[in-house]
Amino acid sequence: MRKLFFANWKMYLSDEEADALARAYAEGALSASVDVAVAPGFTALERVSRALAASKVALGAQDAFWKDEGAFTGEVAPKQLAALGVKYVIVGHSERRAMGETDETVARKAAAVAADGMTPVVCVGELKEEREAGRQEEVVRAQLVAVLAALPKGADFVVAYEPRWAIGTGTPCEPADVAAMHAAIRSIVGADAPILYGGSVDPKNFKPYLALQDVDGLLVGGASARPDDVRAFFEAFAS
Ligand code: PEP
Repeated sequence: MRKLFFANWKMYLSDEEADALARAYAEGALSASVDVAVAPGFTALERVSRALAASKVALGAQDAFWKDEGAFTGEVAPKQLAALGVKYVIVGHSERRAMGETDETVARKAAAVAADGMTPVVCVGELKEEREAGRQEEVVRAQLVAVLAALPKGADFVVAYEPRWAIGTGTPCEPADVAAMHAAIRSIVGADAPILYGGSVDPKNFKPYLALQDVDGLLVGGASARPDDVRAFFEAFAS
């Protein structure tokens, strides 16, 4: 299986900047040895969708609501995302969990995304104090079990292991700890679900993660939205 480089542009980039960066991704992906997906902000989705139309880069979204229609001011329906050509939808990102998202809402979102024919990218990860207490696998297991119980049998999904203390901090998780966690996740989700690592990955530190047996790719935030870093990633991925 080819590894997946999944870019989460968070709330960065104007629509014009997103369009330009999407074109750089489209070009880089032509000779890359990895599969590539990008998740821009909602307002740039349509434009980025057009920029990627003839490319090998898949379109992602950063969140979705769990209903397809109704009086839900400010929410975005999975059906609306599917209509724009979105393939992957991130659910349960730690930055959203920190704002009150629960295992239950993440599970409902994952099920709604799958029902509209897209692939949820389910983010899981422990807090620093949970790792310090040795509870990281217990925490991640509970997060995963909640989502797996809600997904229809046979639905495609991706897991992103993103320790919450590693995201946007410049302190990535040690590869040995990632290897242990990914093996634990593999024993829960089975062989078919890709498992990504995310948390302060950049062009200088990503290689040891991709070399690990149960790491099927990377979920990259900040560095994936910086044109210089994107260039460096694609130079490294050129086959
Ligand atoms: C993320 O947004 O999922 C992420 C991993 O962010 P960063 O790479 O900036 O730590």
